[in-house]
Order: sequence, then C-alpha cells, then structure tokens
Amino acid sequence: MDSFKALVVSRDEETKEQSVAETTLTPADLMEGDVDIRVDYSTVNYKDGLAITGKLPVVRRFPMIPGIDFAGTVEASTHADFKAGDKVVLNGWGVGETHLGAYSQMARVSGDWLIPLPDGFTGAEAMAIGTAGYTAMLAVMALERQGVAAGSGPIVVTGAAGGVGSVAVSLLSRLGHEVIAVTGREHEHDYLRGLGASDILDRAELSAPPKLLGKERWAGAIDAVGGNTLANVLAMTRRGGAVAACGNAGGMDLPTSVAPFILRGVSLIGIDSVYQPKPRRIEAWSRLARDLDRDKLAAITTTLPFSGLVNAAHDILAGKVRGRLVVEID
Ligand code: NDP
Repeated sequence: MDSFKALVVSRDEETKEQSVAETTLTPADLMEGDVDIRVDYSTVNYKDGLAITGKLPVVRRFPMIPGIDFAGTVEASTHADFKAGDKVVLNGWGVGETHLGAYSQMARVSGDWLIPLPDGFTGAEAMAIGTAGYTAMLAVMALERQGVAAGSGPIVVTGAAGGVGSVAVSLLSRLGHEVIAVTGREHEHDYLRGLGASDILDRAELSAPPKLLGKERWAGAIDAVGGNTLANVLAMTRRGGAVAACGNAGGMDLPTSVAPFILRGVSLIGIDSVYQPKPRRIEAWSRLARDLDRDKLAAITTTLPFSGLVNAAHDILAGKVRGRLVVEID
C-alpha cells in the first residue's frame, strides 16, 4: 500500500484544542513495529469516544490515529509468529493512545501485541466483541476465580445496554447465571431481557450517595460505571461475593468505605484489558468462542462506515449507543 486513509487527531500546541480529520498517509508515517497489517474492521469503544473528542486525555501523542482495536490481515512481517496473509486481532497495548491506531487502512505494531484471529470468528465478529466484549469476558473469568459460579446467586451488570454491559449480560445468562441488568434507558428493557436479563433496575436506584452497607442483593457484579454506582454495588453485595470493576462511564471516583470488605468479605477486582498478558488474552478469546451466543452477538451489533466514526464518538459519550459498534475500514 503506497498511501492509505486514516482518521488523525491533532492538537494545537498553543490552545491545546484537539481537531480530527480524515487524512492520506504513507507507510513512512507509521510508528515502529515488526508487522504491517491491512485493517479490515475496527470498533467504537467508550475510550475511542474520549480519544476522538478529547473529552479526557486518552491520546498521549499527537498526531494520533485513534482506535484501540482492530481485526486485519498481515501484509508483511518480520515477527516469527506471523506471515503475510495471517488473520489477526489486536486489543489495547496503548494502540490509539500512544501508538498509532486502528482507524486507518494500514497499521504497524509489534507482533507481540497480536493474537491470531480466534478460531470460528470472522474479523467482523471479533470486532463485534472488540475490546468491550473481551473486557466483559475478563470480568467473568475474574468472578469465576473468586468462586462466583452459576447458582451462587444473582449477578448485577451496570451500564448494561452499553458494549461491556451487553456482552456481560449475554455471557452470564448463557453460563447459567441469574442476571440483573442496570440501565438508565427504559426503552432498552426488552433488548436486555432478550439478551438474558431476568430482572432490570433503573440506573437511578444505584446512583444515590451510598450507605455503608445495604441489603445483600447479589453474589457478584460487573461494573462499567464507577462512582456512586460502584459504591452502591459493593454495599449490596452478599457476604463473600465479588465485584469486577471495568469502567468509569459514570465517574472516576469511588466514594465507598471499608465496610463491604471487612464486614462481608467482599472482593473488588480491577480489570485492565490493555496490558493483559498474552496467555490470558488467548484464554479470554477462546472462552468467547465457546460461551458467547452468536445470535445474541448479532443482536447487539451495529455496523457503520468509516465516515460515521466522528458522529459515533459523540454518540457513545452521550450514552446513546446500544451494544457494540463495528466500523468497516474500507
Ligand atoms: P458504552 O458507552 O457502550 O457503555 C457504557 C454504559 O454505561 C452506557 O451505555 C450506559 O448504560 C452507562 N452509563 C453511561 N453514562 C452513565 C452515567 N453517567 N451514569 C450511569 N451509567 C452511565 O461504553 P463501553 O461499554 O465501551 O465501556 C464501558 C466502560 O468500560 C467505559 O468506562 C470504558 O472506558 C470502560 N472500559 C474499560 C476497559 C478496561 O480495560 N478496564 C476496557 C473497555 C471498556 P445504560 O444506558 O444501560 O445505563
């Protein structure tokens, strides 16, 4: 590829204002890496919304091609594990933040960051899952390591109609858990029941200032929201239960106390998808291949063209996106 299309975020060094534009680049513009990839699909995650709009300082090098995940085809490689024609997937490792990212027809990264496209998935399906879905799987695996199993009791999922939440609800219900979905969108109740939620709570119920402890309501939780929501989730987790904290869609703070931890033995587990070691990534993707219902994956997915990226970034931050957005890089 002599030249290719990319979405580029720039910053005016005087005003610190960010701007974004579709730009034509050449391979010489890309950063270091031992694998060149033709990007077939990417996605819009919450973090991509932050990067494109500049609402939080996700981008730490300018100019930047945003986009934290992609599925693509290797064009050239000097890495021992990959050769031209291989289908690959990338999530995280600072791509789209410190290393030029996925919203580009071509990417160059370290082969150590890539995994082979998991068996049984097309590139489009892998990106329907994307970083949000892979993070949901990491959270499920973290709860399992704490002994939260089907039959332990209900699992609450916050930010349920979003990307992490939709995949988490689908996975947990398929694994036999009773799922309580928390959403601020009344018109998505049927959608969430269709994904397997047996009960739905209004977001407002969990966004009030938390008590030290509340009634014990669930055995586990996957939280995409943070802030008061996470604090309330902790205060209402049953004795010995576990909470996986994935996100900050409702805030970066955590106004909690030690009460859930020392009086009920609740565990709080942090989920960082970006720098997970490769074996855990491969395990998560093979669990997704086994445990995620493909019809539900299709039901949570909307596909958009490259030209829809900037609008989608604003929509996801406004809480208007349902499920997952796949971007065709054509
Ligand atoms: P989405 O925007 O798709 O989902 C977030 C959901 O949170 C929304 O759909 C909405 O759900 C809910 N929400 C939004 N704003 C608020 C608010 N102010 N108060 C309460 N709930 C709110 O984003 P993603 O699924 O892509 O990401 C979710 C979170 O997880 C983000 O914070 C993201 O940064 C984080 N994340 C973290 C990763 C990690 O490695 N730890 C990896 C991937 C994502 P509803 O309408 O149903 O209420």
